[in-house]
Amino acid sequence: MKTISILGSTGSIGTQALEVAKAGNMRVAAIAAGRNIDLLEAQAREFCPDLVAVFDTALAEKLKDKLSDTSIRVLAGEEGVLAAATHPDAQIVLNAIVGIAGLRSTMAIIEAGKTLALANKESLVTAGELVMAAAKKKGVSILPVDSEHSAIFQSLQGVPEGSLQKILLTASGGPFFGKTRAELEKVTLEDALKHPNWSMGQKITIDSATLMNKGLEVIEAAHLFSVSADDIEVLVHRQSIIHSAVELRDGAVIAQLGTADMRLPIQYAITYPERLPCPCGRLSLAEIGSLTFAHPDTETFECLALCIEASRKGGLKAAAVNGANEAAVALFLEKKIKFLDIPRLVRLAYEAQPDVDSFTIEDVFEADKAAREIVLKNYK
Ligand code: NAD
Ligand code: MG
Repeated sequence: MKTISILGSTGSIGTQALEVAKAGNMRVAAIAAGRNIDLLEAQAREFCPDLVAVFDTALAEKLKDKLSDTSIRVLAGEEGVLAAATHPDAQIVLNAIVGIAGLRSTMAIIEAGKTLALANKESLVTAGELVMAAAKKKGVSILPVDSEHSAIFQSLQGVPEGSLQKILLTASGGPFFGKTRAELEKVTLEDALKHPNWSMGQKITIDSATLMNKGLEVIEAAHLFSVSADDIEVLVHRQSIIHSAVELRDGAVIAQLGTADMRLPIQYAITYPERLPCPCGRLSLAEIGSLTFAHPDTETFECLALCIEASRKGGLKAAAVNGANEAAVALFLEKKIKFLDIPRLVRLAYEAQPDVDSFTIEDVFEADKAAREIVLKNYK
């Protein structure tokens, strides 16, 4: 029996991961989340982990009271989350925290020598070089949960090293595909939260509407698969059936297809290399009928272009882009800025971030902080 810990267990990925872990008869050693203690309590009672961590310290105290009739330990704050990340019983840890808030956990999981099932793309985006180097040094595997990266990883199984020509990273195009800049001026928060194909957390749903999500995924893929942004072609594929593909040296293109359901990539990551029974609906290609492809509009959806530029430049550019985006999306969710303010603010932070050759994790957090400050100073 495999033992797993799940960080961000109350979120969209986290809740589906618990479902998949249950179906796969896995034991859950620890769970962690930000604030939703009602759901954490229910999860704790159902899965009986040894440890539950709550980032919010006041809420952790409340959860401790609620669980006082059990032997489950409750820990608080970042320290508590890191204890969940490194719980000795788990062989594999799924990091499904949203945002750069997941970076310290990513590093801690690797340092603890555990297999990392990674949904938290922001840790690779902001500190990919450091994360990949640490994983290599420790001999730790990073198994992608993001559906595109899972598709690329699956398509590369059995492919000899050195045979990858390029990556075809598919994108649904989001709710605003085909819109002009003038039309984007008028879109609302409610419009942006209506993703055509996927049901996900709020932050990534807004990122899908700006195409920032695809940009973050270019940076993520470049690190995970050791390629440059120039070897990644973003393809708009409205049906979200081909989750991504690889083109090999000889011209063969290998893809992974499936329904738009995160339970499949989650299951593949946490049970790799095994193939367990289908956790979701099966794909019927005849029902879908046709698959379409188009180039993305990087002029209208500037966030994608900025991420590609940040990936090429390296250094802390991607950390600045990510930090500014997190701050801007938070303001957009509070209806304090308009949709097109997101790319405007991200560009400001991108341009303000100086080029650097080498950096530490603390430099990443500094760049993140500086980018957020630029957003807060310039949003009005
Ligand atoms: P979500 O908002 O639904 O859930 C986020 C989780 O993180 C919650 O459990 C929250 O409590 C927890 N959290 C937030 N801050 C925390 C902190 N400081 N410490 C501990 N826990 C904290 O988000 P989501 O949609 O599940 O996305 C999670 C990650 O997975 C993101 O990085 C996202 O880009 C990635 N991802 C999600 C999907 C999807 O379908 N939802 C697909 C691909 C990738
Ligand atoms: Mg994705």
